[in-house]
Amino acid sequence: MALRKTKVSLTLIILLLISLVGIGISDPNTRYLLFSKSVLFNADVKIFVLDVGQGDSILIKAFDKNILIDAGPDRNLSSSKINSFGVKKLNLVIATHPHSDHIDGMVEVIRRYNPEYYLDPGIHHTSKIYKTLLDLVEEKGLKYMRPRGQTIHLQSAILYIFPLPSNIKSINNGSVVSKLSYKDFGMLFLGDAELEEQSFLIDTSKDNLKSNVIKISHHGSNTGTNQRLIDIVSPETAVISVGENNPYGHPHREVIELLKKNNIKIYRTDRDGTVIVLSDGSKYSVIREKGSIGERFLFFILQLIETVRGGIW
Ligand SMILES: [Zn+2]
Repeated sequence: MALRKTKVSLTLIILLLISLVGIGISDPNTRYLLFSKSVLFNADVKIFVLDVGQGDSILIKAFDKNILIDAGPDRNLSSSKINSFGVKKLNLVIATHPHSDHIDGMVEVIRRYNPEYYLDPGIHHTSKIYKTLLDLVEEKGLKYMRPRGQTIHLQSAILYIFPLPSNIKSINNGSVVSKLSYKDFGMLFLGDAELEEQSFLIDTSKDNLKSNVIKISHHGSNTGTNQRLIDIVSPETAVISVGENNPYGHPHREVIELLKKNNIKIYRTDRDGTVIVLSDGSKYSVIREKGSIGERFLFFILQLIETVRGGIW
C-alpha cells in the first residue's frame, strides 16, 4: 500500500514537472521567470503586496525576518493571507497611520503572530479599533517604536524608517514611510503620505528615496503622486494597493497616465491580486496572483515553497 502511494505521488510530481516545463515553454513571461536570470528560487528578499481590497497590507520576508506593513481593512483577511505564505512569526509590525483601511486587521495579526516590535507614528487618534490595538500592544508587551530615521538590519538587507515631519497637519501626512534595500535593489513604501509629507522627505532625505520599485501612496490617489516624486524616486515598477470599484475612484486616472508617461510598469492588486516582488539583490522579478496561466502556476509553486519552508508539513 505504501509503495503504491509512493508511486502515485511520484507520478503526480512527474506530471507537475512536465506541465511546469510545458507552461514555461509556451508562455514567454513564465519562461523568463523560470529559465533566464530567474530569482524565483534564490530570492533573499520577497515582498508580498497582499490583495486585501481597499487598503494596504504588505508582507516582507528578508532572510529569516518577517515584517508586516499595515494589515488592511478586514479583521481577518491579512492574517489568513500571511499564513498562506508560511509565516509563523512576525518580528515587526508597522501601522503606517491609524486609518481603518490600514489597521483594522492588525489586532488579529498581533494575536496570531506575536510580533516583538510594533511601530506607528504615535499620532493621537480616537477610533475604537486604534484604542483596542494600542491596548493589545501594551497587554502583549510589544516593544513600541516610533519613526526616527532608524536603520533596521535584516541580515544583509536593510529597512530604513524615514523620520516624520515635525508639524503634521493630517493623519495621511504623518504616514510611516520606509525603504527596503538589499545590494542594488530598493523598494519604497509610502503608506498614504501625500505631497506635503513627500516634500519634507525630498527636502531631508532626497538621495535615499531612489528605488527600483515604489508602493504608490494612498491607493493611487492624485494627492500622493506627482512628477517631482517620480523624478526623485526614479522607479521602474509601481505597485498600487487598491480595491475593485472603490468609492474614491482610486487609482486616479492622472496617476496612471503619469506612470505610463514615465514608462513605469504598473501592477495593481484590484486586477492582479496579490503581487509578489522577489529579489536576489542584483535583479528582481514580479509574479501576479492573477497573471498569465504560467504566472498563476508559479505563484502557486512559490506559495507551496513558502509553506514548506514555514514548516507546516
Ligand atoms: Zn489608505
